[in-house]
Amino acid sequence: TIILGLESSCDETAAALVTADGRILAHRLATQEEAHRPYGGVVPEIAARAHVEALAPLIEAALKDADLTLDDVDVIAATAGPGLIGGVMVGLVTGKALAHAANKPLVAVNHLEGHALSPRLADPTLQFPYLLLLVSGGHCQLLHVRGPGDYARLATTIDDASGEAFDKTAKLLGLGYPGGPAVEKAAAKGDPKAVPLPRPLVGTAEPHFSFAGLKSAVMRAAQSGRYSTQDIAASFQQAVIDCLIDRTERQLAGVQDITALVVAGGVAANQSIRAALEALAAKHDLPFVAPPLWLCTDNAAMIAWAGAERHAAGLIDDLTVPARPRWPLDPSAEKARGAGV
Ligand code: ATP
Ligand code: MG
Ligand code: FE
Repeated sequence: TIILGLESSCDETAAALVTADGRILAHRLATQEEAHRPYGGVVPEIAARAHVEALAPLIEAALKDADLTLDDVDVIAATAGPGLIGGVMVGLVTGKALAHAANKPLVAVNHLEGHALSPRLADPTLQFPYLLLLVSGGHCQLLHVRGPGDYARLATTIDDASGEAFDKTAKLLGLGYPGGPAVEKAAAKGDPKAVPLPRPLVGTAEPHFSFAGLKSAVMRAAQSGRYSTQDIAASFQQAVIDCLIDRTERQLAGVQDITALVVAGGVAANQSIRAALEALAAKHDLPFVAPPLWLCTDNAAMIAWAGAERHAAGLIDDLTVPARPRWPLDPSAEKARGAGV
């Protein structure tokens, strides 16, 4: 079984071909970083137009790389949300058109499920259920991952996402866009103990994350003129790590049945964060799984793979499936906390 995956929910346009047994036959990606850089963040209208231009050639290129035609594809998987609605619609409508024209089943993939299942593409031995720290540009959550379509959200951020905190810190420090890799690079040359910064919610009984106070403290440190950019970056990164580790360890004390500690999403590309989580897993005698860096940030291989997992579980969609700008993995948790988080 061969799955074509399409991704267009943010500022990466991507197409990939993956088999149901987890072989990546081709993956193509076009990033829009240059187009958005002058604005210091993603501009939705520019993103949507760029997806329209990039997607069809990427699909053709991926098919050519794999030496396949659309006829050889068995399943079409496209991101249907959450994300910037203009971009999501480009990928989803393209997926619907291909599915209709070639008479193949369509799987509408939740982008977060793409991130959440990507560790199983990277490591086929990873079994459900696992504890997942999902850290990306728009999200920071701890999830009990039980299977395709079956997630319990244990914690989320009450304000900024972790990637958002990296991006805002980069902007404050004049390190440019996208912020995560730039902050990581600057942090490598700084002292993580140089700047006193808060660790919001660490040690509290509630399970959630918070990064807004950290961002304000970074701003004050930068304005004080007392610290180097490298020291602020290193101290910020260490504060984020301390928050992520504390909140994750709090869950490890509660969940009994997990096979591994797993991290996914763009922020999981950060080497210091990976190392800290690996040490935490070792402390709790758990295997640690993190996808390779290219599979952490947005890509279509993870969408094709989520499509493979959902298709194998009989979860296919009809052509009326809508594009959804908001789409929680665990709707019951969303309802419990109320709107806005
Ligand atoms: P979401 O998946 O929540 O919809 P997104 O798709 O925009 O959001 P991803 O592509 O998964 O997010 O991740 C991008 C985020 O990851 C950005 O905020 C970026 O700064 C961050 N990031 C990427 N590389 C690193 C790194 N090395 N260190 C820290 N953060 C990083
Ligand atoms: Mg991106
Ligand atoms: Fe993402």
